[in-house]
Amino acid sequence: MAGPKHSCGVVGISAGSGVAHPLRTALMILQHRGQESAGISVFDGNWIESVRGDGLVEAAIPADRAESLKGTAGIGHVRYATTGSKGVINAQPITVKIASGMLSVAHNGDITNFSVLRDEYMREGRTFLTDSDSELILKLISKHLSEDPDIVKAIRAAMGELDGAYSLAVLYNGRVFAARDPFGFHPICLGKVEGGHMFASESTAIDALKGEFIRDIQPGEICEITRDGYVIHAMEGAHPHSRCMFEWVYFARPDSVIDGREVYEVRKRIGMVLARECPADVDLVMPIPDSGRAHAIGYALAAGIPYEEGFMKNRFAGRTFILPEQKLREAAVSTKMIPIRSTVSGKRIIIIDDSIVRGTTLKILVSMLRDAGAKEVHVRIGSPPIIAPCYYGVDMKTRDQFIANHYSIEGIREQIGADSLGYISLGGLVEAIGMPADELCLACTNGKYPTCIKGEEYRFS
Ligand code: AMP
Repeated sequence: MAGPKHSCGVVGISAGSGVAHPLRTALMILQHRGQESAGISVFDGNWIESVRGDGLVEAAIPADRAESLKGTAGIGHVRYATTGSKGVINAQPITVKIASGMLSVAHNGDITNFSVLRDEYMREGRTFLTDSDSELILKLISKHLSEDPDIVKAIRAAMGELDGAYSLAVLYNGRVFAARDPFGFHPICLGKVEGGHMFASESTAIDALKGEFIRDIQPGEICEITRDGYVIHAMEGAHPHSRCMFEWVYFARPDSVIDGREVYEVRKRIGMVLARECPADVDLVMPIPDSGRAHAIGYALAAGIPYEEGFMKNRFAGRTFILPEQKLREAAVSTKMIPIRSTVSGKRIIIIDDSIVRGTTLKILVSMLRDAGAKEVHVRIGSPPIIAPCYYGVDMKTRDQFIANHYSIEGIREQIGADSLGYISLGGLVEAIGMPADELCLACTNGKYPTCIKGEEYRFS
């Protein structure tokens, strides 16, 4: 399987004036998609210069260093890494000098045939500096470019070799391209900005640059943006789609619109469906901030139960999910979220979160609510039980880590200490997203994978 697993964020801009600053701003808006490293690459008319570093965008790409990159075409990346894959060496974009100029690539997703392709290339004598899928993609494109100087054909040929999930940003000399895998796992969309055009993993990045959303880049498309316009190169023939449901449920910003569906609206609808499918007689509905907020608003509206903010989240706390040990994760969750006593004391409460993976978060929060005097604590979840690993870029990797593979729903309820537990049904989730089930990737909830993964069930056979 691939090296570092990541669901990241990408951006590209081609404009009449300097792009380094707007690239940096767009990456700040995509920060939730990755906090481990960030980088930008800009073509200065002759050479591609990059600034890349560890940490949040503000630190990884210092404003003065961004200012020093002069050029009107560039791409950028924020990276979500798991514990084993940190280090600035894996930061993106990755850039190389090739016979016809310079090439830089950044990528969001996971390439499922990474090891096979990389081994093949290494046997041919090619070398790799990093463990990342993006370097493999870069090498594939540059190999095809050495055979035919047409960059669109080279990207298309590379796409023909790649399996899995990829939303790509490619900078070839002064030309800027986006590409989305034929299944369309992760989002990427196109917009017009002052003096030019851009693409980004999420539409909010276009809003932040006061741009105008044009359209989603469709599965299988390659899109070249220029200062004056854009050119779409669609793929030939029909191909099944498999959009990641977790983008709407958890990963994307609520204010982004993905493939025509606003994330906030979808989450609210999830809450409404949950209220219908899993009602409870309680005094108030509370979110687990931040990801459960819109789900909880939907639930409260549909059930006619008051909505309250009963947890304060420490907004400066780091990510608990990727900590390497259970003890560390538990300690981190218990200081990240503190209940507001006056809101919860003596109340019958429903708390709503987007998902349960290991069960760490809810086990601790339910017990905190009881300590703060809650009379009853009911839990509702905006996705069906997560039971199967994601091979396409979401950090959920082993079957063993999922609590739903060890306990029944009643068993999970007991483990987290709730008075009742209800998950949205798969049908309810599909209804809330508003797209046919066969257009979505639901593999983490049903184990049916849209691409061939050794040892897993293939959905399309
Ligand atoms: P857990 O505490 O292990 O049950 O994980 C569930 C919590 O982590 C929920 O609050 C989710 O919002 C969040 N979460 C779910 N999946 C991920 C992910 N892939 N990366 C980071 N956080 C996640």
